[in-house]
Amino acid sequence: MSQAVLYPLRFEPIYQYRLWGGRHLAALLSEPLPNNGPVGEAWILSDRDDHASIVADGPLKGQTISQLMNQFPDQLMGKLAQRFRRFPLLLKFLDAHEMLSVQVHPGYTDGGLRPAFAGAKTEAWVVLEAGKESRIYAGLKPDTTADVLRRSLTDGSLAHDLLCITPKPGDGVFIPAGTVHSLGGDVVVFEIQQNSDVTFRLYDWGHVDANTKQPRPLQVEQALACIDFVDSEAGLVTAVVEAEAPVRRERLFHCDPFWLWRLSGKIPFTVGAESVPRVLVCTAGTGQLEHSGSSYVVGKGEVWLLPAEAGKCAFRPHGAVTLLEIAIPDQGVNGQGRVTFQGPRKDSA
Ligand SMILES: [Zn+2]
Repeated sequence: MSQAVLYPLRFEPIYQYRLWGGRHLAALLSEPLPNNGPVGEAWILSDRDDHASIVADGPLKGQTISQLMNQFPDQLMGKLAQRFRRFPLLLKFLDAHEMLSVQVHPGYTDGGLRPAFAGAKTEAWVVLEAGKESRIYAGLKPDTTADVLRRSLTDGSLAHDLLCITPKPGDGVFIPAGTVHSLGGDVVVFEIQQNSDVTFRLYDWGHVDANTKQPRPLQVEQALACIDFVDSEAGLVTAVVEAEAPVRRERLFHCDPFWLWRLSGKIPFTVGAESVPRVLVCTAGTGQLEHSGSSYVVGKGEVWLLPAEAGKCAFRPHGAVTLLEIAIPDQGVNGQGRVTFQGPRKDSA
């Protein structure tokens, strides 16, 4: 088989109606938003049966990431090919005009409620836009028990039990599996999460879905069973600056399922790594990615998968550019999905 089958792959966004969504993603992504309704999510990299990302250009245009994972496991995943049959991360932009439901994703200690085929889900957000009304809930106030939550659900005071953050653009928020969380009030975030779709809704702010005219179902008991009541590393993270030149490289998340850096610069720098895949998400500006004598224009809102066989590539910004670079750690998951050596910033009120 030819060695240079794969190349830096751009994927089409998959837009999703959500009752809590807005229209902010129109300014972030170049693909036009569908119709006039609220769009809450753009899935920008997804290897799921119901919504598989499709390659946008080049000889592999029209192929799904699932097909590529099957056909080119070694070229795409390199050293990680044996560990993952599916691409292990799900990447999205969220535009939360209204509050999302207060929810929790199962971890590894969920009392057997999680379907056997699904994994745990740790997720994290990078705030891209925030307004005066924006807020993020991540974790419980100290000494909040299941009984306290049950009482608050009956009298509608649940928000008082949650740790609340007033988000600013650039903030990183870590939501390990088992953390109660929500966000809304016109906040736009990039979301990175393990590729799992198991969500238990604890509370939905009295929302009624305009499409069904019904409130959405809650899964209170399942949610309570998944909540991590003792251990909370959730919340704002402190960015660790690893380099200032030629590009400012800040590490935002460093947990077992994913690592994420923010790169900001104006002069050429290197992206990618040998023998493992990397994902680039452009959140501001534009630039050019160079690989094997070809050059690819990278625009704002785009996601690019650098296959393992691409190795390191040069990135040439056109003016100031901000990229998120994402790695899948080359190590076994220790079963917890937790931050390993980066503590949360405890300044949330
Ligand atoms: Zn979530």
